[in-house]
Amino acid sequence: MHRYLRFAAHRVLAARLGTTALAMCLLAACTTSPTGRSQLMLISPEAAIVESKTAYLSTVGELDKENKLVDDPLLSDRVATITGRLVTEAVALYPNSKDWEWSVAIIDDDDTVNAWCMAGGRMAAYTGLFEQLKLTDDEFAQIMGHEISHALANHTAERMSRAIAINVGVIAAGVAADNHAATMAGAALAAKLALELPNSRVAESEADRIGIELATRAGYDPQAAVSLWEKMGSLSESRPPEFISTHPDPENRKARLSALVPEMRALNPARSMAAVTPITIVR
Ligand SMILES: [Zn+2]
Repeated sequence: MHRYLRFAAHRVLAARLGTTALAMCLLAACTTSPTGRSQLMLISPEAAIVESKTAYLSTVGELDKENKLVDDPLLSDRVATITGRLVTEAVALYPNSKDWEWSVAIIDDDDTVNAWCMAGGRMAAYTGLFEQLKLTDDEFAQIMGHEISHALANHTAERMSRAIAINVGVIAAGVAADNHAATMAGAALAAKLALELPNSRVAESEADRIGIELATRAGYDPQAAVSLWEKMGSLSESRPPEFISTHPDPENRKARLSALVPEMRALNPARSMAAVTPITIVR
């Protein structure tokens, strides 16, 4: 989600890095995640949602101009149905996401194996996922369940916060010297880092755990989380997909997810399908 975050992080930082804002940020640095873990938060989840919306609209606008948004009714319907079921379960488990503007852009790019979900429920899926991995519905549900979980657990804000923290000395020095250029250079560096930082290992495990649960509750086979990573792993031998660069360690993931399968099956033994929440397909 690199390009989009770069844009979002710049705006957040530009708006926020006054002297007092920085001090306030540092005072409010630690919050508890929806999963009960302590998170470093220099940007509130609400601010991350606002900034993500701006970045998303700009990104989607560009894609539309380049004719890169998929208009195929079959694929759109498939994506909307699967994500719609996941969102039903997401909202049931995390009621604060009820008012998110849930939407998906399907990006016409067969070379890119990637998907993401920003803070606020704005998602994207690249056609490379379907072309190169020949995903089943169950496997696609696992990918999007995982990505939605990053957003539910405030991982967008957390990643942006980590980038700022790494650079807080640089930024604070600029603020103290009343040197606007130095402050902004530090901010720009933080913004750039935010995109290059993958989610932390803990965040990845959280998203794996919440994601497989969302998909199972929505009616999809939890075993598909394992077959998905097998496919990702075999693809990475020839040409590493984008998704692997931000989601390393297919082998470890496969083992951890596999261990969760029996517990997951017990959550929805009859595999009853969740209701489909209406999802906007951006086109
Ligand atoms: Zn992830």
